[in-house]
Amino acid sequence: MALDCPVASCDRLMPGTARICGACTAELARELDAVPSLDADLDLAISRQSRTTGGSVGGRSSEKPLPWNEHASEAAERLQVILLGWDRVLVASVHPLHGPTCASCTHPSCMYADLGR
Ligand SMILES: [Zn+2]
Ligand SMILES: [Zn+2]
Repeated sequence: MALDCPVASCDRLMPGTARICGACTAELARELDAVPSLDADLDLAISRQSRTTGGSVGGRSSEKPLPWNEHASEAAERLQVILLGWDRVLVASVHPLHGPTCASCTHPSCMYADLGR
């Protein structure tokens, strides 16, 4: 039985056994893969070691610029809050499985047990 994907911005159908559709799963995986790079970019931007758009236009200000980028700092703080929220959701939903697991395999039960540990 096909259901509507529950992601607000998605209008696709998904199998009844899934939590979200395959396209949303792939998008989430891509976004999570980008987090380490985004975090490194934010660190550079916070310490003003990178060029970003949106700087002042026009004449020079007589004020000395702060040695850090407030917008990047706020973005990094928001990213941390979002990741901590997801961490809590994942920690609460993974229950430890006891028992042996394979050293290297793709068994769902072994992967789940390793995640729980
Ligand atoms: Zn979807
Ligand atoms: Zn296994």
